[in-house]
Amino acid sequence: MADEFPFEISPMFEGERIRKDNMYVELAGPKSKGFELVRAADMDDVVDDKFTLIGPDLADMEEGSRYPIAMIYKIAGELVEADLESIVERRNHEFQNYIQGFMHLNQRDDVWLRVGKDAVKKGMTSFEPVAKAIMMLFKNELPFIEKVEAVYITDMAEIEKEIENAKAVYKARDERTRDLHDEDVDTFYGCTLCASFAPTNVCVVTPDRISLCGAINWFDGRAAAKVDPDGPQFAIPKGEVIDAESGEYTGVNEAAKRLSSGEYDRIKLHSFFEYPHTSCGCFEVVGFYIPEVDGIGWVDRDFAGTAPNGLQFSTMAGQTGGGKQVVGFLGVGVNYFRSPKFIQADGGWDRVVWMPKMLKDKIVNDMPEGIRDMVATDEDAADVESLRNFLKEKNHPILARWVEEEEEAPEEEEAPAKAVPQAGFSAPQMMPSNFMPSMPMMSGGGSGGVRIILKNAKVSIEKVIIKKQD
Ligand code: SF4
Repeated sequence: MADEFPFEISPMFEGERIRKDNMYVELAGPKSKGFELVRAADMDDVVDDKFTLIGPDLADMEEGSRYPIAMIYKIAGELVEADLESIVERRNHEFQNYIQGFMHLNQRDDVWLRVGKDAVKKGMTSFEPVAKAIMMLFKNELPFIEKVEAVYITDMAEIEKEIENAKAVYKARDERTRDLHDEDVDTFYGCTLCASFAPTNVCVVTPDRISLCGAINWFDGRAAAKVDPDGPQFAIPKGEVIDAESGEYTGVNEAAKRLSSGEYDRIKLHSFFEYPHTSCGCFEVVGFYIPEVDGIGWVDRDFAGTAPNGLQFSTMAGQTGGGKQVVGFLGVGVNYFRSPKFIQADGGWDRVVWMPKMLKDKIVNDMPEGIRDMVATDEDAADVESLRNFLKEKNHPILARWVEEEEEAPEEEEAPAKAVPQAGFSAPQMMPSNFMPSMPMMSGGGSGGVRIILKNAKVSIEKVIIKKQD
């Protein structure tokens, strides 16, 4: 391979990050445009191994600049069908990351690529060998592909013409699962593509739950498992229903144990707080619990601002990713908002209090009509106080929980219990009882006081005042 291409290709380069200082050019990403698309075609319509570039090549690009990019692949083969398009498209992410000095993030029209300076110095001055390497890997790793052809576009006007078509294709794929539900099937599908950087991740795709990356739905999983049962997408027999509301099944729990090497043995597919789905890191949106209002906010990759909890997407993604089951945070694919089972164990849409305006605009027509105006955006609330006021003003259903909590609140205890507030949360506390289980507060033994055990916790404390008690 090394002789054939002016760069190394190996799975060991997956996870390689190209920081700004080492970047030759950035392609697509949040400040530009781009997409990746795979289309199934007839054998006669594909010229095997052909590469076409529309727009400037790498050698013509100015160092340190940003350009748009679209990557379109046509695939053909006796076993190739439209249901396999998403699966192959997802592998573009994996295979481009095999190339040393080439970084691919996200998927569909959220792709974000960088080419490293060292790679260009070593000879990566054209997209042609990159596309040829990907086509070679497609055919080697996915034997049902007999012919493949690639078109890369770096011309903005051309991309703007093509991107609407790509979005229509993604939409049509997502809509296929609308009339199919978890109870209608006896098999779900798993995916291990993210296991290299999230080893305990348990990715389960069901008719009512698209993958976290948003790229693989139940039909895609089924098609991939059919053509390559030993590949990264495989069947998970659903087994017995333990709890339909939260989406707990014996088959999923068994798969969780196996795929996470024993780290997790329960997953509730439609729960935010209890045994939630693991989050690998390539989720499109991250949900975060806001204890001050007992509600859930959601923030997507495109939102560069700060959520009402004072954190940005990147910070929360860092906290949530890695294949962990993190109570209080949850990574999902955008299409999960359209699921009739969307976090139904925790109140569904009635629990949603905030999301960026751009994300809300994307899904507003799929939100239950009654709640649409009650979910705040960054234009309505920038912090917890303004969020609380907005929710009160709109009479959001979450207010019913505040009343319940206040009614249920136990009598205030005498000091010294009051002397140990939980940093960062304003009273009254309205967290679910299992929030942040990794930070249990336990009564001490005979010596009195409080013993705090912190496990996997990140704590930042500005000031500690210790006073002697008389
Ligand atoms: S998020 Fe899940 S479905 Fe998507 S590539 Fe990763 S493991 Fe596969």
